[in-house]
Parts: sequence; structure tokens; C-alpha cells
Amino acid sequence: LVSRKKKQEDTIVEVNGARIGKDVPTFIFGPCAVESYEQVSTVAAALAAKGQKLIRGGAYKPRTSPYDFQGLGLEGLKILKRAADENGLAVVSEIVTPGHLEEALDYVDVIQIGARNMQNFELLKAAGQVNKPVLLKRGLAATIDEFINAAEYIISQGNDQIMLCERGIRTYEKATRNTLDISAVPILKQETHLPVFVDVTHSTGRRDLLLPTAKAAIAVGADGVMAEVHPDPAVALSDSAQQMNLEQFDEFYGELQKFMKTH
Ligand code: PEP
Ligand code: MN
Repeated sequence: LVSRKKKQEDTIVEVNGARIGKDVPTFIFGPCAVESYEQVSTVAAALAAKGQKLIRGGAYKPRTSPYDFQGLGLEGLKILKRAADENGLAVVSEIVTPGHLEEALDYVDVIQIGARNMQNFELLKAAGQVNKPVLLKRGLAATIDEFINAAEYIISQGNDQIMLCERGIRTYEKATRNTLDISAVPILKQETHLPVFVDVTHSTGRRDLLLPTAKAAIAVGADGVMAEVHPDPAVALSDSAQQMNLEQFDEFYGELQKFMKTH
């Protein structure tokens, strides 16, 4: 059902006035994790000032180590929702288990399914039964075919509001946190009718590569870009090395706007 052969027209996902998959690329910016109301409201205000429609922030954090910050859970979603509402933004946040889906629906506008859960088939099926858009991220070592099949799990349950997100895959290369598979973007656009995002933060893990990879994403036809922004990345409880502070975000956003005007 996600195949371009089944449906030729692009799927457009509407969230808070943003028509994702149509017109200009859509951005999903915000901190890696929700840490406090002050933290997210600072970012939310900066995003609203730039006319952004969405904010991201993790409340359930799938961390490699069980001893790392695990997120604020439902309390985090409430904090994010409050900051988003105050700034006219819609909330994008990761859900890690079907058991959390229902309680999260009051606070989340876009359900993110993270790389580690791309083949959590029960979660995919549960998200397929919900009337909210889903942002599905590519698995850490998933082929494009496996990625498309994961989206098929969602759509086969009735939910066709799906966005795909390339976020880098594991290779032998150590210069970046993951290897951004930029060719996945045009392949996914050819093979499916769904909007495609590129997450430049988790694919590169490097602040200095956020702008060039975001430009590359737009140049190859991505419908949107995700990147992490934190008021003070040095003290961030997760992904401290690659989040942009507000000044860096300003520069990144300005350069990207210039690039989009000339391409
Ligand atoms: C995230 O976007 O917060 C995240 C954990 O990314 P990924 O699932 O792509 O690793
Ligand atoms: Mn992160």
C-alpha cells in the first residue's frame, strides 16, 4: 500500500498548517530530550519566531546504556505540549511501546517511531490503528526494503499518514556517528508515495556537518529535515555533542533559507 505503483500521487501529511510532502521542505527542530519546561519553552519560542510549525523532543528516550538519562516520560510530554501550545507549535515525540500510545495521544501530534523500534511490529501495528501521523525512522542497520516493509505494517492497519525518516545506518565508517544514506531519499521517493525526511543530527553526530547534509537532503528532494536544538548543549542530558545552541541554529537556519531560495 505504500508503493508508488499502488498510488502515483504524493501523500501529503497535514500538521498544524504545514503540508508535508508539498511545497517547501518542512523542518522538525527541537531538543533531543525534554529536560525541563524552561529548556523546551526557550527552544519553542525561538522556533515560533521563525514561523516553524513543529517542535520535537523525546520524553521516552531509548538510550544505549540503562544508566543514562531515560527521559521524563509522560511528565515530559505534558511539559512539551504546554510549551508547544504557548507557541502555536505541534508536538513530535517518540513512543517506544504500544502501552504508552494511548496516554500519549493527548499530548503528541506526530508519533515518532525511532530507529531502535523500526521492527517493533506490535508498535507498528498499534500506530497503524491511531488517527495521528507517524514519523517512522529507518532502523540502525535496516535495508531500504525492510524500512518500506515497516511502513507497510502501519498502513496495512489503516493509517496512511506516514512520513519516513532516513537517519543514517551503521557501517564501518567512524568519522560520523552513522553513515547518512543520501541515496535512500530519491529511492524512497521513487518506491513509495510517502514524504521523506532526513535527520542530520543522528546520522552525522557532528555539528559541523549539519548544514552541508541538510543542503544535500534538500538537493536530492527530501520533504523535510530534522535537527536537534538545545539552549545549552554542553549541559544537555543526551546528544550533547551534536545539538545546536540557539545562535548556531540561527546561522544554520539562515544559511538553509538562502540555499533553498537559490535551488
Ligand atoms: C531521536 O530522534 O530522538 C532518536 C533517538 O533518533 P533515532 O531513533 O534515529 O536514533
Ligand atoms: Mn538525539
